[in-house]
Amino acid sequence: MSSIISGSRTYAQQNKLFRQGRYGNPGPIVTYARGGRSNHNFGIAWDIGIFTETGGYITHGILYDQAAKAGMSEEIEWGGDWSRFVDKPHYQLKLGITLAMLREKFEHGEELTLLA
Ligand SMILES: [Zn+2]
Repeated sequence: MSSIISGSRTYAQQNKLFRQGRYGNPGPIVTYARGGRSNHNFGIAWDIGIFTETGGYITHGILYDQAAKAGMSEEIEWGGDWSRFVDKPHYQLKLGITLAMLREKFEHGEELTLLA
């Protein structure tokens, strides 16, 4: 079974996540993006988790590839297709603009639109 385990984050939440595993903080490094530099900050990204029937959390493996194949569409980008930082639990909408442009629109309250 899979569920969305993380969706939108504030810049502060993203910065806290960025500090995990760095500067002497415990836990693994799970992001390379600071606040304002993640698509999770703009309401267009989400991460899934896959769980066993008894509720155990599966953090990686072929089930993530299978989930992506089952649920993919033209409007969605999968982190498993990235080359620099493969992020199989991650999905985001394809808006066709740079992160900097997206941040600019977000911080000015402008509407975000999908590519037609
Ligand atoms: Zn993500």
